[in-house]
Amino acid sequence: MDFTFSLQEEMFRREVRAFLAREVAPYYERPELAGARAYEEWHIALIKAIAKKLGARGWLGLGWPEEYGGRKATWKEQLIFKEEMGYYENWGLPRQAVNMAAPVILAHGTEEQKRRLLPPIARGESWWCQGYSEPEAGSDLANLQTRAVPDGDVFRVTGQKIWTSRATYAGHIFFLARSDARAQRHRGLSFLVAEMGTPGIEARPITNMTGASDDFSEVFFTDAPVPRANLIGEQDRGWYIAMAQLGPERAQVDFIATLRRRLDDLSRYAGETTRNGRTIGSDPLVRHKLAEMEIEWQMGRLVNYRVAWLAAMGQQAGAASSQSKAIVGPLTQRMAKAVGEILGLEGQVGAYGERAHRAPLGGRLLRFYLDSVSRTFNAGTHEVQLNLIATRGLGLPVG
Ligand SMILES: Cc1cc2nc3c(=O)[nH]c(=O)nc-3n(C[C@H](O)[C@H](O)[C@H](O)COP(=O)(O)OP(=O)(O)OC[C@H]3O[C@@H](n4cnc5c(N)ncnc54)[C@H](O)[C@@H]3O)c2cc1C
Repeated sequence: MDFTFSLQEEMFRREVRAFLAREVAPYYERPELAGARAYEEWHIALIKAIAKKLGARGWLGLGWPEEYGGRKATWKEQLIFKEEMGYYENWGLPRQAVNMAAPVILAHGTEEQKRRLLPPIARGESWWCQGYSEPEAGSDLANLQTRAVPDGDVFRVTGQKIWTSRATYAGHIFFLARSDARAQRHRGLSFLVAEMGTPGIEARPITNMTGASDDFSEVFFTDAPVPRANLIGEQDRGWYIAMAQLGPERAQVDFIATLRRRLDDLSRYAGETTRNGRTIGSDPLVRHKLAEMEIEWQMGRLVNYRVAWLAAMGQQAGAASSQSKAIVGPLTQRMAKAVGEILGLEGQVGAYGERAHRAPLGGRLLRFYLDSVSRTFNAGTHEVQLNLIATRGLGLPVG
């Protein structure tokens, strides 16, 4: 493994960093710019505008072939882009489209599907969401009940998805549905793509503990006609595509970069802020906590670099991706707890409302704290990752 970056790659990092400093930082650091508008509405309009600017630079399809809007960048350039975006919490990145849907379409889509679906993603015009989970199918995904009944040129889809991130403003959903009700659990599932505006598809937002209602939705399908042209791969063989898709999703080099941002913010805050006449960062407990987090962060980054390298070498990175997820999730929670301890009661002041001016670090850390709870659940729970590492990585028997 060689993790040194060439001059060209370093130049690329500088270019992305300068773009983000200009186009994202002024808003990221001052959410009060939302003014009288609801924060979510402001945020969505902003990230959609940023996405188009990223697309105009050719950064959303970095590793793809040129004919679909890509620019065949090296794997390290792709890594750099993910790190730099992650440092700003991926503001402006249609992550489900670029990191999750596009690799599936590239690997399993037909030529027609690639030409139709990929260029709008590369231009930053197309936001997607992922419809796997259902009320009775989370970790046990093969238990999903949504039906896709073949009917001429379409599948008639009926069922319910849940915890669908970004569903309220995504244009497309990729999802799994049961196309052969008689087949065994993992068989008889198809991987489909639908436009969210299709009659019979409805997203209903769920407000989560951060107070946001744009994060999650339930998605209901009621006899929704999904064109057969949107079947990815073979009918009834969608399980294998979904499993391959989850590997890259669990590789979290961007989320480890977000933690870098937290650590930088917190170190700066501890170095600049005084409490009871002393700089917070001169307290040995605070220093040691920050130093421990720095060590854990460095380890987390190395694991993530290895996952990216394995993927670049064309090696199946399944168990390694689970390691990435299994490190980043709990580390996020430990860091969030430490942030709470260091900021004290002031850390509980959010970015909005009457006391917003009192919020340390623009109130970002309150949301980080609340959001951290979900990090051992999303993209497969922590326990599921440990099971995968034990079985696929260590060769232990399936329980
Ligand atoms: C922030 C966030 C975003 C999400 N976005 C999406 C999305 O966009 N699209 C989507 O489809 N889903 C999404 N999800 C759903 C996510 O994939 C599920 O929450 C996850 O798969 C777990 O399923 P569940 O919630 O039904 O929990 P369950 O599967 O019911 O698990 C409950 C508990 O039991 C444990 N458990 C279950 N099975 C085992 C086992 N075999 N061994 C050991 N322990 C086990 C789990 O680890 C967990 O602690 C999101 C979730 C979150 C938190």
